[in-house]
Amino acid sequence: MRIVITGGAGFIGSHLCERYLDEGHEVVCVDNLITGRRANIEAFAGNPRFRFVQHDVSHPLHIEGPVDMVLHFASPASPVDYLRYPIQTLKVGSLGTHNTLGLAKAKNASYLLASTSEVYGDPEEHPQRETYWGHVNPIGLRGVYDEAKRFAEAMTMAYHRTHGINTHIARIFNTYGPRMRLDDGRALPNFMGQALRHEPLTIYGDGSQTRSFCYIDDLIEGLVRLAATDFHEPVNLGNPDEVTIREFAEEILRLSGSSSGIVFKPLPEDDPRIRRPDIRRAQQLLGWSPKIDRTEGLRRTLEYFRQLV
Ligand code: NAD
Ligand code: UDP
Repeated sequence: MRIVITGGAGFIGSHLCERYLDEGHEVVCVDNLITGRRANIEAFAGNPRFRFVQHDVSHPLHIEGPVDMVLHFASPASPVDYLRYPIQTLKVGSLGTHNTLGLAKAKNASYLLASTSEVYGDPEEHPQRETYWGHVNPIGLRGVYDEAKRFAEAMTMAYHRTHGINTHIARIFNTYGPRMRLDDGRALPNFMGQALRHEPLTIYGDGSQTRSFCYIDDLIEGLVRLAATDFHEPVNLGNPDEVTIREFAEEILRLSGSSSGIVFKPLPEDDPRIRRPDIRRAQQLLGWSPKIDRTEGLRRTLEYFRQLV
């Protein structure tokens, strides 16, 4: 296959590029490097089946030759990044999704949208099932990301219903692993960077809010399986092993053997109180479940960050 991956120089996108290259496919990575890095794709630069196109997909996108699949991963993804780039985030979720769906239509390609657990907002249903419509503040600070992704899902379904494109919507829950940016502001890179520098870990609020963290290799397996189906409704992909942010910080302290303490900072606006995916749909449809537990995943990620600090 010849596969276009937008956001391919980012954390998840670069792992997808690697996976499809390893399977023998051709990959065209399209990225404007707003939050991604060339270093993430350096290892593939010499591969004749890999091509990098530096382009903002909020502007129309022309790719020469055949395309079998378009995977739309371009978007700032960490809260710190999308609060820094609110308009770019709204544009890439709306105009970028429209442009990449247009590419899929023109090439008669299948399509996968990287959506997010943020479409559920601060959820009133727990765990979150795909049938839940969500609880999002459209005008809050996080609204730029949440509403862009909700629009992106609506646009993707419209292209499927109107043009018959084989579209897929992955609702991705918190994912972590090598190639995250140390300074992207998410809990895990912050905590690991702070632990390795022996600085206090910054917990926002009292740390009782929960998340459910999925290791990158498990997510990639789920995405590749979903992309190979003809299922069009959203599918949650994540690890249902839920943990409070305080426990998570303490796990990182233990695993890193750090002497850092913990400091408490204000909780950001609209920060979801709880989050855990119901993954029964992915289990039944894809025969998929995460395999890598948090201790193992955190160990591997810590090794990566040790080289950077
Ligand atoms: P990331 O910031 O590492 O990667 C995003 C990539 O998109 C970057 O390389 C960035 O430069 C690129 N990009 C952004 N806007 C662009 C534009 N207009 N044109 C071209 N390229 C653009 O983030 P990530 O964690 O790898 O997230 C990738 C995708 O997965 C995002 O769509 C995100 O919403 C989704 N997602 C991620 C998570 C997670 O836990 N990491 C959870 C849910 C959803
Ligand atoms: N968080 C924290 N300290 C940090 C960074 C984040 O306590 O240094 C909290 C944040 O408020 C949220 C959780 O950790 O409750 C996960 O935040 P992250 O930015 O990783 O992703 P989110 O799931 O909120 O998109």
